Amino acid sequence: MEISADRVVTIHYTLKDDGGEVLDSSAGGEPLAYIQGHGNLVSGLEKALEGKSGGETLAVVVPPAEGYGTRDQELVQRVPKRSLQGAGEIKQGMQFQARTEQGMRVFTVTAVAGDMVTLDGNHPLADQTLHFDIQIVDVREATAEELEHGHVHGPEGHHHH
Ligand code: ZN
Repeated sequence: MEISADRVVTIHYTLKDDGGEVLDSSAGGEPLAYIQGHGNLVSGLEKALEGKSGGETLAVVVPPAEGYGTRDQELVQRVPKRSLQGAGEIKQGMQFQARTEQGMRVFTVTAVAGDMVTLDGNHPLADQTLHFDIQIVDVREATAEELEHGHVHGPEGHHHH
């Protein structure tokens, strides 16, 4: 079966950066199951998988614009600690969700200096060219319930009800 919109695709993947360093991989663990055409993967990878079949392997190079975006300096902000009240002690590496003009975004605390906190709303992989090695394990039709929920059910999918 070929990969097309609304089908459940199960893949093993390894993600490397330009230097060949492994950033993430499903090797040795559970494969990833997702629904094609719902923006569950970065757009460049989803596009490359369209039309491919179970059993195929492929190498995909995804530029930042079709990956996690390019760095936007406007998403780096210094705010007073008191504006993050309720968060407890603010430490480097903590993450917050905040509403922006582009919708909800995750901000990471990159520095704490005195009463000021630096927040970075860029994805950690922004500006990076992504190198994926993909093995397509399985392609099947999604159930009506999976399409309604927008995620995969069953042994290879996460379930949160
Ligand atoms: Zn569900």
